[in-house]
Amino acid sequence: MAVEGPPMATTEEDVEDVVAWFEEVADNAATVQLQTLRHIVESNLGAEYLQKWLGALGGLGGMSPAALQSLYTSAVPLVSHADLEPYINRIAHGDSSPVLTQHPITMLSLSSGTTDGRPKYVPFTRFSSQSTLQIFRLAAAYRSMVFPIRSGGRILEFIYSSKQFQTKGGLTVGTATTHYFASEEFKTKQRSTKCFTCSPQEVICGGDYKQSTYCHLLLGLLFHDEVEFVASTFAYSIVQAFAAFEEQWEELCEDLRKGTLSTKVTSPKMRKAVLEKLAEPNPSLASEVERTCRELRSSEWGGLIPALWPNSKYVYSIMTGSMQPYLKKLRHYAGELSLVSAEYGSTEGWIGVNLEPMNPPERVVFTVIPTFAYFEFIPLFHKQQSDHGRERRRICASDTDDFVEGEPVPLSSVTVGQQYEIVLTTFTGLYRYRLGDVVEVAGFYKGAPQLSFVCRRKLILTVNIDKNTERDLQVVVEKGRSLLSRSATKAELVDFTSHADVAHCPGHYVIYWELKGEAEEGVLEECCRAMDAAFVDEGYVVSRKTSSIGPLELRIVAGGTFHKILEHCIGNGAAMSQFKTPRCTANEVLLGILDCSTIKRFWSTAYG
Ligand code: AMP
Repeated sequence: MAVEGPPMATTEEDVEDVVAWFEEVADNAATVQLQTLRHIVESNLGAEYLQKWLGALGGLGGMSPAALQSLYTSAVPLVSHADLEPYINRIAHGDSSPVLTQHPITMLSLSSGTTDGRPKYVPFTRFSSQSTLQIFRLAAAYRSMVFPIRSGGRILEFIYSSKQFQTKGGLTVGTATTHYFASEEFKTKQRSTKCFTCSPQEVICGGDYKQSTYCHLLLGLLFHDEVEFVASTFAYSIVQAFAAFEEQWEELCEDLRKGTLSTKVTSPKMRKAVLEKLAEPNPSLASEVERTCRELRSSEWGGLIPALWPNSKYVYSIMTGSMQPYLKKLRHYAGELSLVSAEYGSTEGWIGVNLEPMNPPERVVFTVIPTFAYFEFIPLFHKQQSDHGRERRRICASDTDDFVEGEPVPLSSVTVGQQYEIVLTTFTGLYRYRLGDVVEVAGFYKGAPQLSFVCRRKLILTVNIDKNTERDLQVVVEKGRSLLSRSATKAELVDFTSHADVAHCPGHYVIYWELKGEAEEGVLEECCRAMDAAFVDEGYVVSRKTSSIGPLELRIVAGGTFHKILEHCIGNGAAMSQFKTPRCTANEVLLGILDCSTIKRFWSTAYG
């Protein structure tokens, strides 16, 4: 059994090969995992980090895969990013000795820590781009069985590179997507799937997301009948791009009509590359687009994608987790087109593929790919649940969140219905690394677990004994939003965030909403009350009843506030392609933006 990736898919037969490869890997998932672990340990046994924990071994010799697994998991500790930071920093400062891996690491990625303010460096190697190519090919193979696309077609892809820079030690740093878009593998993906992004590299790497979005849209219109599907890394980017389209369609039509490019695009390289593609005036296309846009405007832009890209088959992007709040708007733009939820991964490594693209985003599951990393799963039990006398060994009862942990188990021992934190051992130098994501096992695909994403493990809202995650906040906001949409006014929730205000006594939660359109005050009061009452966490309910947490405050912020937040985060190194609105913030600059933009305030009456 090969631990390497799937074969290249260049023809229909190759698609069958890719599928056959995965079916075999999934059938033998447990064995493949042991081989993957052996492969990682064997090729990095000489690295300082593994020497520290496994040094006494000398070599793996004739050790059985099962014996290696048990030795590895007993000798090497579970770690979080902070534990590995001293090693990663040495690499960043130019230490070229084998610190974490035997092969030198020449690139570092910035992981989502960026949105919290402090960027986290994660090693990036050729394996990272290769596994990205592999998962995209694998997903494309399964997708093509349900949604076949024309060979040689195009993708209207809202993708963006962020800036790359050098560390003191000369390593290139950028987001994982930035490294991937600049890699050979990105070109190979387009060639091998025979589907090409509408925009050239100069637009993707332009460095200014507004200019890039304008050019993505313009070229998307130019190639309108060739576009097979619309995509982005995270769904937020598609929603953001079409919101810009609603404002800019007339200017875009002008450019199409005259073969010109708006002066808002100032990057010389981007201008040259786009103007080369525009080549000549296209008045008939401009008039057709204009006519369609006028009709779309009168229906609030519902079904914009199929109306303007008539051959598109689906919309493809990450739509789960923190992207769920954008689904409603995405569905509105997509009309009757299917929404296909994209794969599950992180800067640290890819985890699972969506093998059932016909599933709506609310029901998507990700099948773990056993060749990508060695996966372990820490069972998580809610404290109340564990107090009801279930038998398990507690290895940690964290005060900082609501979970009691069980012993980590390998992929083959997970239980359907159980929630876990994912632990990764990767080819890029992360050993027993806690990813910080909570997933639930929804079932098995042959021998490979299928995961539904639950949330980031980190708590976001807590004042005293209350504990709420991003998922809890999402459920609560959804409750408030449902009342909003039932009101006579046509207000729509654009985006939201929150803050646990502990500066005042008693502390209380603040939820910030940006709306499109006006909402009646009475409706907003009701939304505020309903959200307060919708937090079901015991600690919150008790604290609200005893007034040790004050009434929830709903603040309505002016239109464009979340754009300012996006711009601040991007200015601080976040990338548009990986941007996730922080769902809770204690960051002073962000709070300053939110507070200055507050136009209305409501306090809940839920607890009298
Ligand atoms: P980043 O560090 O920017 O690469 O973001 C990685 C994080 O995004 C993961 O750890 C997850 O929390 C989240 N994420 C990635 N893919 C998905 C997905 N398909 N569904 C839900 N959340 C995801």
